[in-house]
Amino acid sequence: MELNNTEKKEICSFDKNIVRNILVAKPDKYKLLETISHRNREIINTGSSLSYSPLSFGEDIICLDFKKFNRILDFNKNEKTITVEAGITLIQFLNFTLKHNFWIPQLPGYPSITLGGAIATNAHGKSCSTHGTIRNSIKSILLFHKINGWMNLSEKENKEIFDLTIGGLGLTGTIVKITFNLTNIENTLFITKKKKIKSVEECNKVISNYNNSSYFYSWHKADNIKNFGEGIIFENIIDKKKIIDFKGFKDKNYKLKPFLFPVWNKLSIKLCNLLYLYLNRLSTEEKTESFLKVIFPFYSKESYFNFFGNNGFTESQLLISESKINDFMSEFKNIFKIHKPTITLFSLKKMSGEQSYLRFEDNKVCLTFDLIKNNSSNNFMNEIDNLCLKYQILPSIIKDSRIPKNIFDKTYRYANDFREKLNKFDKKRVYKSEVSKRLEL
Ligand SMILES: Cc1cc2nc3c(=O)[nH]c(=O)nc-3n(C[C@H](O)[C@H](O)[C@H](O)COP(=O)(O)OP(=O)(O)OC[C@H]3O[C@@H](n4cnc5c(N)ncnc54)[C@H](O)[C@@H]3O)c2cc1C
Repeated sequence: MELNNTEKKEICSFDKNIVRNILVAKPDKYKLLETISHRNREIINTGSSLSYSPLSFGEDIICLDFKKFNRILDFNKNEKTITVEAGITLIQFLNFTLKHNFWIPQLPGYPSITLGGAIATNAHGKSCSTHGTIRNSIKSILLFHKINGWMNLSEKENKEIFDLTIGGLGLTGTIVKITFNLTNIENTLFITKKKKIKSVEECNKVISNYNNSSYFYSWHKADNIKNFGEGIIFENIIDKKKIIDFKGFKDKNYKLKPFLFPVWNKLSIKLCNLLYLYLNRLSTEEKTESFLKVIFPFYSKESYFNFFGNNGFTESQLLISESKINDFMSEFKNIFKIHKPTITLFSLKKMSGEQSYLRFEDNKVCLTFDLIKNNSSNNFMNEIDNLCLKYQILPSIIKDSRIPKNIFDKTYRYANDFREKLNKFDKKRVYKSEVSKRLEL
């Protein structure tokens, strides 16, 4: 078979930290997927390449771009299940399920992410304190592995590989089809309520009582040590009164393309934060918001990422015990005073689940912050790595492309378990990426 479905391409991690020239293959038939896999020594699967760290490419590794496999294969309304190909994007998926008042509530925050990519990173959505990660909605998976062939994976069939695959960063093979258990959704409108808070510590106290409300996250000003953490908690509740007909989403094709020169700096961030806080104080405490605005907060606000320019940024996402937040924040502010990094975003939400293998999941608070990349942020992040060890914090390897191997080994208690089981399943270790090589997975 002639392999004219391949091209040489420059691929970049979403945080712009790693760039590589890569050979990308775009199979459109299962037979071609098998042929390309058999012809190449090292392979990695690629969805929409929207991972902050280089999970879906690597030097001298062929990328299997799966975007052409995006069909809906089966839908059973009575059993509330749907089977789709893994290259389908979230927006394509929702345009079908929402028509029938169904969805899965663990959707990561950008509509062109693929479901294959979401499963391989065990993604979570805004309601992760209630609904946990996408793992909770998966019924079964069809996997193709170059050596082990076609495999059905579920709690009942090949359970060990099923568990390794969810959050397994594409290292167990190609996720071809997925069957999801669907959840009812009454409406595609949300009511958003706002609560002002003075600090991250106050936010932690407030959200610890939010057990029954499904969707919430906070935004904090973190541009200055004075009033550090002043901000707002946003709570989104599905509007069960003003029910609207779902008309379908149009994919607007907004551009995620960095500006030639960065716009973000200490001054521009300070001004934007002040304006954001001021506008939120002026607007009503409660308003109705669309599904896209609530579930995909950066959709139509791509400028936030583009403003970092080609130099990129660093995102850190940390899972930390509720009881350790105050001590952690006190040390965080001390090192902030010393290194003076420029933090462009700071947010908190709660998460539920059980940590295992490489999965970013636990019954903890999830703290996220973005930084302009420079020497001061690098020095600051080296100190955050040490705080991760001190406070038994789990840093996300999906978001932070910088995490050193020694920090990963010490914070991911089940990483060796993952390595051993993966090596037993695939002695030749076919599926590899820049991240898997660096972390020796
Ligand atoms: C703006 C933005 C917001 C985000 N919000 C969230 C959020 O709220 N919650 C969250 O958890 N994450 C979030 N993310 C991260 C995102 O969910 C993950 O990085 C996701 O993996 C990206 O999907 P992708 O289709 O781009 O996959 P890629 O980046 O192409 O690949 C990601 C991983 O999945 C593997 N993979 C992809 N397809 C397959 C397949 N068919 N078979 C096997 N492995 C496969 C790849 O090998 C790689 O390891 C966000 C990312 C962005 C850019």
